[in-house]
Amino acid sequence: MLERLRSIVQKVNAAKDLKSAVDIIVRRVREALNTQVCSIYLLDSDINCHVLMASEGLKKEAVGHVSLEIGEGLVGLVAKNAEPINLRDASVHPNYHYLKETGEEDFHAFLGVPIIHHRSVLGVLVVQHEERRRFDESEEAFLITLSAQLAGVIAHAEATGAIAGLSPSGHKTSDVIFHGVSGSSGVAIGQVLVVFPHANLSKIPDRRAKDIDKEIKFFNTCINTVREDMRELHARLAGHVAEEERQLFDVYAHMLDDSALGNEVVVRIKMGSWAQGALAYVANEHVRNFEQMNDPYLSERAIDIKDLCSRVLFYLQEKESVTTEYHDNTVLVSEELTPAMLADVPKSKLKGLISVKGSGNSHVAILARSMGIPTVMGVVDLPYNQLDNKEVIVDGYKGEVISNPSDQLRKRYMCTIQEQDQLIKGLEELKDLPCETADKHRVHLWVNTGLMTDVIQSLDQGAEGIGLFRTEVPFLFSERFPTEQEQSTIYREQLEAFAPKVVTMRTLDIGGDKSLPYFPIEEENPFLGWRGIRVTLDHPEIFTCQIRAMLRASVGLENLQIMLPMICNVDEVSSALRLIKKSHRELIQEGLEVTYPPIGVMIELPAAVYQTRVLARMVDFISVGSNDLTQYLLAVDRNNPRVANLYSSFHPAVLIALQNVVTQAQDEGKPVSICGEMAGDPGAAVLLMAMGFDALSMNAAALLKVKSVIRSITLEAAQDLLDQVMQMEDAHMIRSAVDLALYNAGVDRLLRSSRTN
Ligand code: PEP
Ligand code: MG
Repeated sequence: MLERLRSIVQKVNAAKDLKSAVDIIVRRVREALNTQVCSIYLLDSDINCHVLMASEGLKKEAVGHVSLEIGEGLVGLVAKNAEPINLRDASVHPNYHYLKETGEEDFHAFLGVPIIHHRSVLGVLVVQHEERRRFDESEEAFLITLSAQLAGVIAHAEATGAIAGLSPSGHKTSDVIFHGVSGSSGVAIGQVLVVFPHANLSKIPDRRAKDIDKEIKFFNTCINTVREDMRELHARLAGHVAEEERQLFDVYAHMLDDSALGNEVVVRIKMGSWAQGALAYVANEHVRNFEQMNDPYLSERAIDIKDLCSRVLFYLQEKESVTTEYHDNTVLVSEELTPAMLADVPKSKLKGLISVKGSGNSHVAILARSMGIPTVMGVVDLPYNQLDNKEVIVDGYKGEVISNPSDQLRKRYMCTIQEQDQLIKGLEELKDLPCETADKHRVHLWVNTGLMTDVIQSLDQGAEGIGLFRTEVPFLFSERFPTEQEQSTIYREQLEAFAPKVVTMRTLDIGGDKSLPYFPIEEENPFLGWRGIRVTLDHPEIFTCQIRAMLRASVGLENLQIMLPMICNVDEVSSALRLIKKSHRELIQEGLEVTYPPIGVMIELPAAVYQTRVLARMVDFISVGSNDLTQYLLAVDRNNPRVANLYSSFHPAVLIALQNVVTQAQDEGKPVSICGEMAGDPGAAVLLMAMGFDALSMNAAALLKVKSVIRSITLEAAQDLLDQVMQMEDAHMIRSAVDLALYNAGVDRLLRSSRTN
């Protein structure tokens, strides 16, 4: 059974479009269950019907024509209840709806199971039989298992059609929505540029060739190079491997000939595709065909095709020297966006970001927020490689991407963009006013930085200091570990720009979702693995080099603070302090007049929450990293879009932990700040201020919004709100109570533009 399941899923996975996928399903399932009918009905939300999309056993002419309204017939009932229905005789069921065109009157036994993807019912998979008999338990279990596995493939195939502007039944569609999670608020409308990892045939986006003749010539040059490689390999292996095996290279070389694969690629280029896309298309078609063959020898040939075409792709990518042209409104799309990909696009042209993987708390999203670029993360069903050059709307408020936008929708979103710009302009008058409540309680607003551009923007927004400089950001943009001198120059820039305001530098925090290209960390469970201080204490040479660079950079400025990430126990703090003191001593001996800076600990792990008091005794200040603290308290991977809806800093457990940290730090007389993303959410900021945080550190784009809210509320009202929400049991209730309080304070216009989960 398991083998059959696997084989069906594999074949469906290899299908090139929705039509072929559903045809394979009905054919294979009918065979596997040895039944007379297998059909698939899919929901077409444009016409609000379940359409018969494929069938083996019902009349062919009914396929694509017959449909049932929502809730109609047994199919409608299966979809409505999201549960299987298994009947000995369907015709006697009150919901039975006879469809004359299908010829189904001959079939009595009926088993229908819902096809469910991310909690929504995409359609129904049905098997039918002449005999009056219930399908047995194992048949029902088989169909349920299969349907669960196929749901993702069907969703993907549907989405691919939707990008081309077609609903499942072929109707023209516009305003097709793909759901993800908000990465950075705001709206952008622009042209997609797909960025993709190299040397991977399945990730090449569809793109038009600029000059067809040139593209063909370029392709031919590349296949000639591969042919030469083959000949060379053939010669080099003489005497080392059997002659039959050496023949393989001849076979490869022939496959590239004009009469074979090479020709198919050229034909596709002539149809307008760029060479990489044409090669990927032809390769994937052949691989799919070979993989579908039941003969193990032939299906193995798929590997040869992949290997050969990957070699050609390597040269196509290596030799391509064209520089990317960026559209004025570029929306960068990738399966997995990385901070380095952002750096390639000129800032003035980068309007929006979309990543299929990752979530709102991934570091690339944090970077996007600090740059103020609307971003949607975790759009898992987006067939991104079909999107190149297409126009999309990025709705960073709702976490949605809309393809094929209609004029009407585009106009609506243009208005939102204008409102957004006006709101930001309106806030500018607050820049030089202090961040204090209506009853004069003062809170410090700090900023989180990573790049020099953040620094300039932050000063412009009236930031009072840097609460978190993510030092790993310049490391991410480098090709090797930066030297002490290089680091010192970068740190000096930040310290000088802000002096005499405080600059809190965090020691290198790599691992988790931040791996350096030149220092890869590959682990099964990276967020519970070698991260932050754990890495740097194991590599004291990296740690001390960084500390020395920070201390040297601070000479004469006196505004440096150093902060330690991912602290789990007192030992780590003692070891780090020992190394910092040693570096300081050495620099003094070298004749530099370096002041010993205040040192702080980040509270990011539940263990550290319970030990805040003892940790506070060892250092000068405490800073909460609520992004990680939320992830670890709730056991929700901050990068995983599947569980993004569970990630909430308003969860009562998170709020209790935060209050606990503040109390312990205050008992030890140590200042306490917070530098996670929740500090930049105006509603959350009110609660954090009421808890007693001395400073809130956030991305520059959030500064004035938070200031506006704090200036419009009294400390007393904020404390009342805090008392109220600390009695609540549920994150949604807390969020609503906070929203209501902001509404009553007359600042609800800021809500939409800045909320975290
Ligand atoms: C945090 O975890 O809250 C934090 C500020 O650090 P980062 O987001 O860089 O992990
Ligand atoms: Mg962290």
